[in-house]
Amino acid sequence: MSRTAFIGLGNMGSGMAANLAKAGVPVSAFDLSAAALERAASNGCTARASAAAAVADAEVVITMLPAGPDVRALYADQVLPNAAKGALLIDCSTIDVDSARAVAALAAGQGFRFADAPVSGGVMAAEAGTLAFMAGCEAADFPAVELALKPMARVVIHAGDAGAGQAAKICNNMLLGVSMLGTCEAFALAEKLGLAADRFFEIASKSSGQCWSVTSYCPVPGVGPDTPADHGYAGGFATAMMLKDLKLAQEAAARAGAATPMGNAAEALYALFAAQGFAGRDFSAVLQMLRGELGALS
Ligand code: NAD
Repeated sequence: MSRTAFIGLGNMGSGMAANLAKAGVPVSAFDLSAAALERAASNGCTARASAAAAVADAEVVITMLPAGPDVRALYADQVLPNAAKGALLIDCSTIDVDSARAVAALAAGQGFRFADAPVSGGVMAAEAGTLAFMAGCEAADFPAVELALKPMARVVIHAGDAGAGQAAKICNNMLLGVSMLGTCEAFALAEKLGLAADRFFEIASKSSGQCWSVTSYCPVPGVGPDTPADHGYAGGFATAMMLKDLKLAQEAAARAGAATPMGNAAEALYALFAAQGFAGRDFSAVLQMLRGELGALS
C-alpha cells in the first residue's frame, strides 16, 4: 500500500481518507481545521502539523479542497516544494479547467505525475467508498491513479489528458442541473393539469422523458424512491454546490465559445433560489419555487 498524504478533510475528504485508512493505506492527513484533523486521526489517519509535513514522505498525494485558488496555492506553496521525487499527485476537488491545467503543467515541469480527478457522488458516497472518479491525466499514469483511488471508488474512468476530469465533471453537472429543472417544471405543470404526481412518475419513468432526475432523484415528496424530497430537502446535493458547478460550466463555456443557453438559464434559476435563502437545501427543492410554494420549505 502506497504511503498517502490526504489534504482537505472536510465533508468529502473526511470519509475518503477514512476509507483509505480502512483499506490499510498509511494516510498522513492535514487540514486547516483542527476539528477535521482530529476526526481524521480518530478514523485511522496520522495527523500532521502542516501540508508540507504530510506530503514529505508520501508516494501519493490526494487533495480535496473547496475551489481553484485553494488548489493553485496549496500546490505552488506546499505540495510541489515539499513532495518526494516521483510522487503521484491527485486533486479530487471540483475546480475550473484552467486551474487544473495550470497545476498539471506546474507539476509536470517539476517532474511530478499529476491527475485532476473530481468525483460524482456526495457525502454519503464518500463515506461508503462508492464515488465515481473522472480522471484527467496521461494515459500511462492512469493505472496508478486508478489504484490509488480504488478504496474510495465505485468506478474510476479515464476522461482524457490534464483538465479532462474537470471538463467531464462540469458538463455532467450542467446536464444534471438542466434535467432537474426540466423534471421540476414537468411535475409542476402536471399538477396544474390535475395529473397525480405518482401517475406521472410512473409514466415518465417508462417513457421518453425518463432520466435520473425523474427515476432516481424524484423532486416530489412521497413519489418514487426515497430521496431528499422525502426529508424536507435536507442533505443530498446542496443548491450552493450545484450553483458552484453551473458557474464553472458557464465560465468554461464563455472561454471556449460554446453555446450553453440551457446551462445559463439553470445557473440563473439556481442563483435566484439560493438568494432566497435556500442555498443549503438539496437542489431538487427548486421544485417548490417553480410551484410558487416556497412556504413549503420553511
Ligand atoms: P468542505 O468545505 O467541507 O471541505 C474542504 C476542506 O478543505 C475544509 O475542511 C478546509 O478546512 C480544507 N482546506 C481548505 N484549504 C486548505 C488548505 N490550504 N490546507 C488544508 N486544508 C484546507 O468541502 P467539501 O464538501 O468536502 O468539498 C470539497 C470539494 O469536493 C469541493 O471542490 C466540492 O465542490 C467537491 N464536491 C463536493 C461534493 C459534496 O456533496 N459536498 C460532491 C462532489 C464534489
